[in-house]
Parts: sequence; C-alpha cells; structure tokens
Amino acid sequence: MYPDSLCDSIAIVDATREKRKGEELLRLTSAEMEGLLRRYHPDYREAGFRNLRIGANRGDRTTHEIADLLEAFSNLDHSKISLEPEFDTDVLVLGGGGAGVTAALFAESMGARVILATKLRVGNSNTIMALGGMQASVHEDDSPVRHFADTMGAGKFAGKRELVKTMVEDGPAIVKWLLELGVDFDRDEEGNLATRKAGGITAPRIISIGDYTGLNIMKVLKDEIRKGEGIEVMEFAPAVELTTNGFGECNGAVLFDLGRKRHFTVRARAVVLATGGSGRLHFQGFPSSNNFGATGDAIVLAYRAGARLEGIDSFQYHPTGVMFPDHMVGVLVTEAARSLGGQLVNGKGERFINELETRDACSAAIIRECEEGNGVRTPAGKVGVWLDTPLIEETQGKGFLKRRFPSMYRHFMRVKIDISKRPLLTYPTLHYQNGGILIDEKGETTVRNLFTAGEAAGGIHGRNRAMGNSLLDIFVFGRRAGLAAAKRKYSEPGNVTLGHVYRYYDRLKSLRISSVATSPTLFPEFIVSKL
Ligand SMILES: Cc1cc2nc3c(=O)[nH]c(=O)nc-3n(C[C@H](O)[C@H](O)[C@H](O)COP(=O)(O)OP(=O)(O)OC[C@H]3O[C@@H](n4cnc5c(N)ncnc54)[C@H](O)[C@@H]3O)c2cc1C
Repeated sequence: MYPDSLCDSIAIVDATREKRKGEELLRLTSAEMEGLLRRYHPDYREAGFRNLRIGANRGDRTTHEIADLLEAFSNLDHSKISLEPEFDTDVLVLGGGGAGVTAALFAESMGARVILATKLRVGNSNTIMALGGMQASVHEDDSPVRHFADTMGAGKFAGKRELVKTMVEDGPAIVKWLLELGVDFDRDEEGNLATRKAGGITAPRIISIGDYTGLNIMKVLKDEIRKGEGIEVMEFAPAVELTTNGFGECNGAVLFDLGRKRHFTVRARAVVLATGGSGRLHFQGFPSSNNFGATGDAIVLAYRAGARLEGIDSFQYHPTGVMFPDHMVGVLVTEAARSLGGQLVNGKGERFINELETRDACSAAIIRECEEGNGVRTPAGKVGVWLDTPLIEETQGKGFLKRRFPSMYRHFMRVKIDISKRPLLTYPTLHYQNGGILIDEKGETTVRNLFTAGEAAGGIHGRNRAMGNSLLDIFVFGRRAGLAAAKRKYSEPGNVTLGHVYRYYDRLKSLRISSVATSPTLFPEFIVSKL
C-alpha cells in the first residue's frame, strides 16, 4: 500500500494520463544517446572504476568491486587442502543455472561422464528469475541477419562478430530443442509461437511463457538432468578454486561442501564454468535484481588460472527496478511492461524518454530525472520515477495485466498494490554483466580445457545486452561448451595442482598489492551473517 506522500504524486500520474496517451516521443539521435550515456550512465562514472594491476587484463578498466576481488588472496589456506581427487570425471560443470544444466545435458549426450556442482540447489539461479522472454528469429518477418544487426547495434558494436553470428544462427535450433523437450512457449490465435518486439529490436522476436519464462524452462531442464544417468549432481558445493596441470591446462576444481564444511577435489578432462554474473557485488551501491549466488566467482577463478576477460567495465542497469516498498528494492519489473505501452513518468507527470530506447539509455534518462530533482521521493529517502502500469490496462483491456503478468500481479497484490490501478515507483537496478570471461565459438576460454557459458562469459553482448538475448546465449553457448568439453574426454588431465594460484600470489606480493577483500565471495555479506 502506498503512503499518503506517494498517493499525492500518483494523483499527478492519473491526472496527466489522458494527455500522455497520444504523445509521440522521438527516438534519440546517436549524438543525443552518446551525450546522455556519458553524463548519466553508471558505466561512465570514473569514480566507480580503476585499472587492474595484475593478470591477463593488467591495465584494463573495471569496477572497484571486481578489481578488489581480482587483486585479493583467497580466504583458504591452500596448503591445507588435499589435492588428491575424491572424484574423477570427464566433464565438470560448475553452476546449476540454465547454462550449466544445458552444458551438462549436451556433454552427457556425447557419452561423457559429467559432474554438475552448484552453490545451492540446481535451478537456484538468475535463470529461474528470467521474466520477459527469449530472443530467436522464428517469425516469418525476421531472420538471423536482422537479429545479428540488432544485437550488434544494441551492444554499441563492441560485441565480437563471430560470437554474435554463432548465437543468432543457432537461435532457431535452440528453440526447436526446447520445444521438443516440452517447453510450452506462448502461442498466438493460430497456434504459432507468439512473438513480440522489445526495446531496440526491429522485428517481433521475443518468445515467452507468461512472465515466468525462465522458471518454466528450468523446470523442464531440471527433469532432464534428473533423468540423465551419466550426470552426477552435487548441490551446496560451490567451486572455490580451479586446478591446473603442469602445462597450465585446467583439470578440475576444489569444491567446498557447505553441509560438512570441508573441501574436496574433483579431477576432470574439461571444466565448464557456468556460475553466472556479479550483480550481488552491488557496484556503486546500486540495488540488484540478481539471486544471491551472483557474486562473480567465475571471473575470479578463471582469472587466477590465466584466462583473459572481455568487456569487464560494462554492466547493465535495468531501468525498472522496484523502489517501493522498501523490502522489494531492486526487484525487476520486466521490460515487457514498457514494450506493451507502460510509460515512464517523472514527478511532474511528464514523460522524458521514448520507453522503447535501449535499456542503457532509459536507465541514464531515469538517473538524470532523479538527479535533476524531477524524481519522486519515498518515505525512506529513495528516489525514483513512475512506470504507468494502469495505462497498459487501459489500452489493452480490463484484466490484461493479471493475465499477462500473473507473477508480477500477485507479488504486488501481496503488498496491497494493484498494478492495474496504481503505477510502480522504479529506478535502475544492477541487472547483468555485459562482459565476462572471453570465449571462442565453442565456449573455450584462453586457458585450455576451461570452457565458459552463460552470463560468466564475455564478448557477445558488447556494451549493452538486448532484452531476451541472455536466455538465448546461455542455451546456445551452454550447448556448444558441453559438446566441445565432452570431446576432451580422451585427453590426459595430468596432475592436479594449484600452481597457478601460487604463481598469482607471488605476483601479487612482488607488486606489493595488498587487499582487505578475499575471493571468491560465494555469498554476499548480508547473507553470510545469517548462515
Ligand atoms: C530478475 C531477472 C530477470 C531476467 N529476465 C530475463 C529475460 O526475460 N530474458 C533474458 O534473456 N534474460 C533475463 N535475465 C538474465 C538471465 O536470466 C541471466 O543472465 C541468465 O539466466 C544467466 O544464466 P547462467 O546460467 O549464466 O547463470 P545463472 O542462471 O545465474 O546460474 C548460475 C549458477 O551458478 C551457481 N554458482 C554461483 N557461484 C558458484 C560457484 N562458485 N560454484 C558453483 N556454482 C556457483 C549459482 O548459484 C547458480 O545456480 C534476467 C535476470 C534476472 C536476475
């Protein structure tokens, strides 16, 4: 329920709705876009960044939070860990979200023995939180070429062409695979896949399942994992370090058994890192839409092993994170709400950006409004702008929001906010890691036998990921990484060592880098205190 102070502001939104309805806001020119981003987007705030002093990306810019972790020692006493492998397998997959589960299924399909180890339970991930949908060029008015152009453009042409090409070309086949497994994407009246446009996309290309797309897909994939006889699942077992052999090739990982509070080692012919992104590092103090496991562990582990990172100074702040009520701050309101006509409205009842601009531009515009005093302040002192959801209900028909966004509708009804009658107060929330560990088309990193898929990987989305491209990317590169990793099953893994970690530590010491942080983080501080 909204307090009186916010109800006064909502009255302004209600009073201006009729006038705003027919209003056309021009799209930004590229010069305007550039100016807006440089001035207001968090990626351009120099105070939030510094250059790395060590490793394959020495000299590159990244956030203080990531630099702190990459320049830190681990909190483990490595000399006390037994490196005698307790388990030996062909493919070790780390991470039980969409990318990891897909990699495990495809590796197993090639006859490889697979261990899938994850921090909490399989499925506990950003993937199950994905709301709005997935891109794939399945509509007759669309093509992989258009999808390629849209993705490159959204990413400011900083994405790697060969990776983008791979993703968009594999898209239709990935949809077919999911359909064959039983994923029940929404259909139109004629029974075809229902597709729609979204910010920065030129063709109807988003497919979804209500507003719980990720949850539905993961339910199906989890069943497949349980059926897979060649896949051993280890839950509550986060990876805390990779292992390497005498040639610096990856050959396993040290895991931490959260239940028994002990470390153990798994040896493998190939490792797929699929531990997701880093939203829970809360860069520059931003709220986050991410699950608690998203602490950037993949970057830390791979970097110590020598892997090169790509685009690790670029992050996505989703324009519409919840700003009220306080306990929901950071929770995502799907972009589909804007695609379907939800307007962004400041405290004066004015629109200030075309809502179909890319996410980075919408976020920068919201930050501008709030910094220039046009925002709306909550009793807790937080500032945001309104997302006019009642306008969607008005234009699409009574009952639409409840039908189209059942999950969001229910969540807000619990706090006595009926989104068909009341707008939502929103502000950008840290949502996605645009960069990550550099991969090639097979998902392999610059460290041999170390593969990466999903949000942990870098090079695909350039400086801004388009809506729906992450769900596609995790299945495309999860599949590719799983297949390629399985082909290493006849290779000789060699001795399991932490040589790369000791060399990294020596380098830290010789550069006189000392850090208060330890890494990997595994859990955000506010969770650790409750464990
Ligand atoms: C609220 C929300 C809505 C979204 N909506 C969409 C959408 O509509 N469309 C879209 O395309 N994208 C969307 N995204 C983005 C997309 O869901 C994610 O980028 C994607 O699912 C990431 O998949 P992943 O498998 O790489 O990582 P995740 O799904 O996050 O899985 C990573 C797994 O690794 C585990 N893990 C972490 N650290 C370790 C460790 N050290 N050892 C072992 N395991 C570890 C985690 O616990 C987790 O299980 C959304 C994201 C969020 C947060």
